Amino acid sequence: MEPSQMSFLFFLMYSAAAGGLLALLESTPGCAQEFKIKGGTQQLSKCLAERVGWKNVRLGSAVTTIWQDAEWARVTTNNDTFLCRAVIVTCPPHLAAKIQYQPPLPSMREFLTQNMPVGHMMKFIITYQTAFWKEKGFSGEIVTGSSSECPFCITYDATSPRGNPALVGFFAGHLASHWSEKEAGERREAVVSSLVKYLGPEAAVYIHYEEKDWAKEEYSGGCPVNVMAPGFLTYYHPSLRKPCGRIHWAGTETATQWCGYMSGAVQSGQRAALEVLAEVCHVVLT
Ligand SMILES: Cc1cc2nc3c(=O)[nH]c(=O)nc-3n(C[C@H](O)[C@H](O)[C@H](O)COP(=O)(O)OP(=O)(O)OC[C@H]3O[C@@H](n4cnc5c(N)ncnc54)[C@H](O)[C@@H]3O)c2cc1C
Repeated sequence: MEPSQMSFLFFLMYSAAAGGLLALLESTPGCAQEFKIKGGTQQLSKCLAERVGWKNVRLGSAVTTIWQDAEWARVTTNNDTFLCRAVIVTCPPHLAAKIQYQPPLPSMREFLTQNMPVGHMMKFIITYQTAFWKEKGFSGEIVTGSSSECPFCITYDATSPRGNPALVGFFAGHLASHWSEKEAGERREAVVSSLVKYLGPEAAVYIHYEEKDWAKEEYSGGCPVNVMAPGFLTYYHPSLRKPCGRIHWAGTETATQWCGYMSGAVQSGQRAALEVLAEVCHVVLT
């Protein structure tokens, strides 16, 4: 996402939700890049699934329709139907907007989701025999301006906990859209030659290069987060979290702390769960 495509007020809100702009960028204590999860972040989902019981988790079941009346909600997926007292929709706004709602959602909510575009970011990881950049006194962090020759805008040292040297980098905004149209080999060559430019000729001799474009995944459609177009935070923000009948809204975009991050997703899930408990089983809250 380019700065020109989003509301400046949204940018300020997003930074404030992390405790300030530097906290979004830095890898020092308390900042967004401080921790890596040994073994990968998928373990979070797996541990949660174990806690609620795998039999209660339906994979490969995309929700297509949510119908509701004063008593019930009925959720239809591509292979099942569920009758419930309340529904929490946790997918990001641009994907929540693809679900059919009966009756239709209030127009304030519709306008909001139609004006919360998702970003476009691609990620690459490149592994090496040695962390040659450290030997040269570099951190591995490269921040570049927009250019048609260098596809990435930022890289970090991504050496694994076992000490396997690696760099991780991101293509973002119009550069991601531009480079996603190219052949994979062309992208890889452009990344490697840019790393050579910034870190030296050793960057050309890598072990493995891997990349991912979430815009090409049907149930992501972009990443890492949805933003708001100008004016929408001012006039439509109550619709972001306000339940629509039996439907409650969660997901990192609805968080007030660490919006856009995993911590924000957790905070939003806790808030939505409390809303539902208050509605269907308020005695447990007293
Ligand atoms: C490259 C990249 C790097 C990131 N780095 C970090 C980081 O370092 N730290 C950090 O905290 N965060 C990071 N994030 C952001 C983090 O991944 C998100 O904030 C977090 O995943 C949001 O969680 P969520 O539950 O709100 O939404 P999601 O994780 O997007 O989950 C939504 C789920 O809904 C599913 N879904 C969509 N449509 C439907 C449907 N119709 N029916 C049923 N299911 C549906 C999707 O398949 C998905 O599983 C990164 C993201 C990206 C892409």
